[in-house]
Amino acid sequence: MHLRYSYRIYPTAGQRASLVRTFGCARVVYSDALAARKEARKGGLPYPKSTDLQKQVITAAKKTPERAWLASVGVDPLIRSLRDLDTAYRNFFDSVSGKRAGRPVGLPRFKSRKDSRQSLRFTLNGFRIRGNGKLNLAKIGDVRVKWSRALPADPSSVTIVLDAAGRYCASFVVDVEPEHLPEVDAEVGIDLGLTTYAVLSDGSVIDNPRFLRKAERKLKAAQRELSRKAKGSKNRAKARRKVARAHAKVADTRMDWPHKQTTKLIRETQAVYLEDLNVRGLGRGRLAKSVHDAGWATFRRLLEEKAARYGRHVGIVHRAFPSSQLCSDCGHRDGPKPLHVREWACQVCGVLHDRDLNAARNILAAGQADRLNASGGPVRPGVAIPRQARPVERGTHLGDLRTTGDRAAGAGGIPVL
Ligand SMILES: [Zn+2]
Repeated sequence: MHLRYSYRIYPTAGQRASLVRTFGCARVVYSDALAARKEARKGGLPYPKSTDLQKQVITAAKKTPERAWLASVGVDPLIRSLRDLDTAYRNFFDSVSGKRAGRPVGLPRFKSRKDSRQSLRFTLNGFRIRGNGKLNLAKIGDVRVKWSRALPADPSSVTIVLDAAGRYCASFVVDVEPEHLPEVDAEVGIDLGLTTYAVLSDGSVIDNPRFLRKAERKLKAAQRELSRKAKGSKNRAKARRKVARAHAKVADTRMDWPHKQTTKLIRETQAVYLEDLNVRGLGRGRLAKSVHDAGWATFRRLLEEKAARYGRHVGIVHRAFPSSQLCSDCGHRDGPKPLHVREWACQVCGVLHDRDLNAARNILAAGQADRLNASGGPVRPGVAIPRQARPVERGTHLGDLRTTGDRAAGAGGIPVL
């Protein structure tokens, strides 16, 4: 199985210049190939093969005066860039034909110098790790790496990323053998808490880590500063970078926290069920939301990676599932609950519910029912899962935010890392 291991890297000024030049070349190669495919399509010609495209936009292009500078960078990242375009097309075709599950994938788009994230991929011929711990990239040089944890095996490729905060990272793909843990009985549903980080269906609570609250305060200050700067000004660009850095800090300086939490969950339970991202989080203020969602996405990714590695199950409950409306005792659908309602009593059976704990229990039941359905087993009696139901929880529906313009404000060009 393939796992990703990411580390901060610190290229020198000269290396940064080479990397930026290579980012540019990889973008041009990608865009030239995309344009060639679009043109072929317009002209009713057959879909150009990647080997032919490679010859056209790299080998032949290097010999022309307009693209001669392509020769000044390593060829491996350029070829990888074309492979990425192939993957983008494959994902699009699979999505259209229904072979690919999940949200629809659009046609590949042209890349821009202004994209907030720039990346390059190097494969076996393009990189190696030196005995002194430096990462050697072809035609770039030996780059210093902060090895925050050990690589479990030799990596097969590395992606160099420059993010909106101006930081460089190396993300290695490593092939590791799964090592299944002995089975346990426990299964839990997890609800993304409104006042805590998360609430588990067994009643335990994962508290917001201190760094998250601190990061939120910093973000708020940075956001205020940003909103005071004139649009298009240099100071605004600077302030935006500051906001991006504040976001980034949450994402990577304290990776040990989600690692610890997810390792514990995976060790102690056989199956973990979560609600699909987004809907619940939207009820929060937009600053808090962006911090939480970044953290929550990492949390989920780590859970899924570790489950695959250690032989556990992670089930995602559909976002339309009304987890906070159903009574987890009798299954009665009690209607929407505004976000300030922390506790409520079921109108049918009278049981008093803690909002988050009740939701976590519903997520557990729905996840278990989903899993049984998928394996063809008998459906568990109890909570019904309305598959086509629209999310109706007031204030958390995406549509509500779109119409109030809240979402547009949140999307204001601030990258969430
Ligand atoms: Zn009830």
